[in-house]
Amino acid sequence: MKFAKLLFIALAFYIIFSLPIWGSVTLKYDNNSVSIGSFSGNPSILLSLHEIADYCGIDFLWNAPNEQIILSRDGKNVRLMLNNQYALANGTELVPLSSFPSVLQGAFVLQPNDTVLVLSKIFPFKTVSYDEQTSTIAITSEEKSESTQNAFIRDRSTDSSSAFYEGSDLPGNFNLKTVVIDPGHGGHDAGANRNRVYEKDIVLDISKKLAELLKSNTKLKVVLTRSTDVFIPLSQRTSIANRYPADSTLFICIHCNASRSKVGGHGTETYVFDLEATDAEARALASRENEGESMDLTMILSHCYHTGTEPYSLDIARRVQRSLTTKLGFDDRGVRRAPFYVLAGTKMPAILVEVAYLSNTEEREKLQSESFRQKTAEALYDAIIGFQDAVNKSLAKAKPN
Ligand SMILES: [Zn+2]
Repeated sequence: MKFAKLLFIALAFYIIFSLPIWGSVTLKYDNNSVSIGSFSGNPSILLSLHEIADYCGIDFLWNAPNEQIILSRDGKNVRLMLNNQYALANGTELVPLSSFPSVLQGAFVLQPNDTVLVLSKIFPFKTVSYDEQTSTIAITSEEKSESTQNAFIRDRSTDSSSAFYEGSDLPGNFNLKTVVIDPGHGGHDAGANRNRVYEKDIVLDISKKLAELLKSNTKLKVVLTRSTDVFIPLSQRTSIANRYPADSTLFICIHCNASRSKVGGHGTETYVFDLEATDAEARALASRENEGESMDLTMILSHCYHTGTEPYSLDIARRVQRSLTTKLGFDDRGVRRAPFYVLAGTKMPAILVEVAYLSNTEEREKLQSESFRQKTAEALYDAIIGFQDAVNKSLAKAKPN
């Protein structure tokens, strides 16, 4: 009886002291100010992002199943995830927070300093600050210096093939030991098809030929995500690749393209990962190849942790693109960027090749020929050997003795 009473008191204390207490914080947005609610938290108060977003005209999207919110305004956006100490700004920039976003009484809450960080990504040309003394968050239109503004414009000049790396810009922290080859589609998923020619068969054959070349001519470990006509979910393809160390494995995903109309389209494309696609066509292609599998924030964040792999992905992409176009004679559609699931989910340098168009009669007929597929595999092989060479040189340069 006495124990029950003690337990009751302890419970009552627990409930009272774990309840957040509302306080108030001033939010200044341009020349207006409003009082917003705050929760008591440790070590600092917590603010409801929804309330702030409402007041500042920021769209607030709460994706409950993925436990994430997306704040967006004027083409800028920030994604936050519950219990994840990183936010993702504009799809490419990882923003470390000082605390975990959480939910209190149905509100998505953040500490003031993290709130300032998030708001500054939404308003890159405004000044966002928090004054602890007066409990005031201020978003003002003070002009930022030109150089700060330019910092928000991403340099994409490295995408052009003329800025070819030739290995010279490789940081020297990657050593090629394993190649994971991922033939697209398989089983009930035939991929693109025209005149009973199926993408899944063409890419499997090219992949197996490439694997054979690598096995018989190099000491590299070679892994195929599938070697038969089976369906493998995209998540399984990435987890097969991720069994191997990110700092010594290369992931090459092989596909064939098709125009959305019955005929047409032409040329070779090689892709590296980016949330922002090169153009609408690249975006449409990625969503087609992603087969409806959506990327969650965790996956994108995990990719962003490995952005150090991008110089390598770009290097191999350019070599593959150059090798395929010069040796096979297809039109050079360039190295492009798009949010492919398999590229986001793999932790190592990773590319996706669209060898040619199955919807183009001439290109399809070439791909149907065994000797042409062998030639394709050889072109891919040459690119990998060139890449390995560049990697070895960058390693030697990183360790001068
Ligand atoms: Zn495909």
